Amino acid sequence: MAITHLTDLHTHYDESVYGSRRKQILLEQHAAGVCGIVNSGSDIPSSRRSVELASKYDFIWASVGVFPLSAYTVPGGWLDAIRKLAQQPRVVAIGEIGLDYRLPETDAEKQKAVFHPQLELARELGLPVIIHDCLADEDVLAALQNCPVPAMIHRFFSGLAYGRKFVEMGVHLGIGPAITYPDAGELIALVKEMPIELLLLETDCPFLPTLRFEGKPATSDMLEDVVRTIALARGDITPQEVAEVAKQNAERFLSIQF
Ligand SMILES: [Zn+2]
Repeated sequence: MAITHLTDLHTHYDESVYGSRRKQILLEQHAAGVCGIVNSGSDIPSSRRSVELASKYDFIWASVGVFPLSAYTVPGGWLDAIRKLAQQPRVVAIGEIGLDYRLPETDAEKQKAVFHPQLELARELGLPVIIHDCLADEDVLAALQNCPVPAMIHRFFSGLAYGRKFVEMGVHLGIGPAITYPDAGELIALVKEMPIELLLLETDCPFLPTLRFEGKPATSDMLEDVVRTIALARGDITPQEVAEVAKQNAERFLSIQF
């Protein structure tokens, strides 16, 4: 039986890969049991597109922000632009924002100069944040300690030890297609022991499909594989219950009803 009440807290449906099929794909997601989608910006143009997309569908919401790899090229006045976008209808979070130290030419200070003011902005506006954290766990933890706001680490894949640190701080973890791959041992161990109240579902689509759909652009209905994997890992909950709990968590986190 198909799973219903799926919620996808981090997506990029404005990406060009969906092309002229975007509308059809979005309506198919809704028909397949996906009741809520958050489309995330990663710079100012994509934040604007997210707000626009959310204005067209009653099951889509937006988050706006500048993510670390766009931090080097932000135009003057970027923070005011994000503040204005954040106050548009159906904007439910600041994100994706964060730190990404994977490239050799990383300039951590430049990234922090864009990340930290957006955490402050979220605090000022009373919005939660969706965080992109790539090999930067210590600095993300420190930033959240300095500016405590409701947060979700999206596409969490930092291992058991950091997972424990984040959940100790009450930070939500975005669990998605990565958990269906053979290298997800630590993620499975974490999902097994973490408080289920901190679990959120996401695909980060189109970037990473579940293992079964490898090579295809991801879509939110692939969350069915994710909730089945989570239920199997935990053993104390059905896949449908995982979807229901994650939906309740998402509604509480974003202060909306799907
Ligand atoms: Zn993303």
